[in-house]
Amino acid sequence: MIHWDIVIVGGGIAGASLGAQIAASRRTLIIEAEEHCGYHSTGRSAAFFLESYGGPIVSPLSAASADFLGNPPSDFADSGFLHRRGALHLSQSEWPQVPPQVVARRVERDELEQMVPGIAPRWTKALFEPSCADIDVAALHAAFLRQFRRNGGAVMTRARLRSARRGGESWRIALEDGSALGANVLVNAAGAWADDVADACGAQRLGIAPKRRTMVQLKVGRTGLKNLPLINDSQGRFYFKGESDQSIWLSPHDEIATDPCDAAPDEVDVATAIDRFQGVVDWPVERIERSWAGLRSFAPDRVPVYGFDAQVPGFFWCAGQGGFGIQTSPAAGLLGASILLGGPPHASVAHIDPTSFSPARFG
Ligand SMILES: Cc1cc2nc3c(=O)[nH]c(=O)nc-3n(C[C@H](O)[C@H](O)[C@H](O)COP(=O)(O)OP(=O)(O)OC[C@H]3O[C@@H](n4cnc5c(N)ncnc54)[C@H](O)[C@@H]3O)c2cc1C
Repeated sequence: MIHWDIVIVGGGIAGASLGAQIAASRRTLIIEAEEHCGYHSTGRSAAFFLESYGGPIVSPLSAASADFLGNPPSDFADSGFLHRRGALHLSQSEWPQVPPQVVARRVERDELEQMVPGIAPRWTKALFEPSCADIDVAALHAAFLRQFRRNGGAVMTRARLRSARRGGESWRIALEDGSALGANVLVNAAGAWADDVADACGAQRLGIAPKRRTMVQLKVGRTGLKNLPLINDSQGRFYFKGESDQSIWLSPHDEIATDPCDAAPDEVDVATAIDRFQGVVDWPVERIERSWAGLRSFAPDRVPVYGFDAQVPGFFWCAGQGGFGIQTSPAAGLLGASILLGGPPHASVAHIDPTSFSPARFG
């Protein structure tokens, strides 16, 4: 049985970004249940960076990630992962709000008509958030895994944790194929399965709840859409952004409670998305090019969980990344690594209070 300093359960962006920061100082293995890392939530996102998103505790993590995403160190990637598009938060009545530290400006109806030709008259006010950008998620995830491996980390796919037991100072981890591993620390970065993994390791569930979200790629009878801003309903009923000259990515902003699974879109949610879209602009809908769904997993207070379990020694949570796990991943990886290894935090996250993310907050 091979013994590791740290075994990370889950090879999505959470496990990969944390792994990239710790592999140089601890012998680390990522175990991933699927054939390839990123098969679940990480591979299904809407792929945008929106600093105002996620509330006052999450937004600083996004802000602290922006420099890295835009201008990563040369030994991490040759070019940045962001493509600037801006976001318009739409309202039918009050001015939309964003956290005070987020740069945004008001857009009156006249300008809104120029920015979004064909927008329905009921949308009278908008807030423009210029820093919103697309993230090249596949390249970012691959770069984290590359750095992880370069620093000595190993990845084992088709390796599903079945159970783990703590004995003395270490874990004995049983995989579904009958093999076993040893580790001093077990990191739970299992996304929608985080509570199930806790169960399997004898830790208390924290109430990490998976919620399904649907995306639709829609071809419409309008051109020039590639660089359309992210159009976001301030009431949280839809968002869409340009994908190509004549197609958009659209979501009904659904949040359907579900068990952890290989999520698939429900046709009712696809229809809801299109119905809401047709209330925003007069662009004819031509056809659905594709649709998909993924799980966004939230802790009860919708703040992610980074830290050692309050009861079970050597069990580290890296879960509850909700709808912001990609855009927060650089800062989350650094913050998580400093909590896990006990060292001083990296300068870019030194102003962020790690106790906000502690699993101990759930009592
Ligand atoms: C439709 C949609 C749109 C989104 N849009 C955005 C966006 O625009 N911007 C943004 O920042 N975020 C967005 N998100 C959120 C983001 O995708 C997630 O927060 C992020 O991918 C979570 O990463 P993760 O590594 O925790 O989870 P995952 O990528 O799901 O990885 C967890 C991994 O753990 C593995 N695993 C589970 N159980 C076991 C086990 N027992 N043994 C071994 N492996 C196991 C799974 O196979 C899985 O690969 C979106 C999500 C969805 C679904």
